[in-house]
Amino acid sequence: MVGMPVPALWLSGLTLLVVAIAGLVLAWRLCRWLGRESRRQRQDLSEQINRLLPQTQCGQCGYSGCAPYAQALAGGDAINRCPPGGERTIQRLAELLQRPVVRLDPTHGIEQPARIAFIHEEQCIGCTKCIQACPVDAILGAPKFMHTVIARECTGCELCVEPCPVDCIDLLPMPTVGEPHWQMPERDFLSSSSSEVRLAREVGR
Ligand code: SF4
Ligand code: SF4
Ligand code: SF4
Repeated sequence: MVGMPVPALWLSGLTLLVVAIAGLVLAWRLCRWLGRESRRQRQDLSEQINRLLPQTQCGQCGYSGCAPYAQALAGGDAINRCPPGGERTIQRLAELLQRPVVRLDPTHGIEQPARIAFIHEEQCIGCTKCIQACPVDAILGAPKFMHTVIARECTGCELCVEPCPVDCIDLLPMPTVGEPHWQMPERDFLSSSSSEVRLAREVGR
């Protein structure tokens, strides 16, 4: 550079500056792309995981439903926190996530045979608290009218039992034919808003 004319020095300085800025822009774009790709892969994985979960939305895993637990699993959370899924779900999760099979963590509950809620309708005071608690919109009723459980939609999550002020809801063993375990519901149960929609509709009558 010694002995270079001043305009040439300016030019080479400017070139270096442009190259440095272009490099920074490229690096920034690469980081953004990598971040997006990593989020997309994690989202894909969490959807695959969610398809393996029972969709009872009971919250025993410590999350507000199956989808949040699936997201946590994609991020590395333990695979043994879902009592309704039990050992079978643990095995499927272990296979998908290539992790060792472990026993169900008893602090989250125990695996039980499939059950279904039953409302003793003659005792029901129509307070609607069970409808508000049901995550899968499996209870039919209106304010001040008797409520009943839609058997084919009940997942046996128990969430309606505790809110009932007259203790008229029992969980009964579900009569099963063939495979004695939960099956993936056909409806999209991933949204908890359905019960709110039903309640709003009932209240509006
Ligand atoms: S079924 Fe219950 S415990 Fe299992 S993932 Fe869904 S919300 Fe969690
Ligand atoms: S009716 Fe009760 S036990 Fe059945 S899914 Fe709804 S809240 Fe769970
Ligand atoms: S919470 Fe109990 S009393 Fe209230 S509507 Fe439901 S079943 Fe009836």
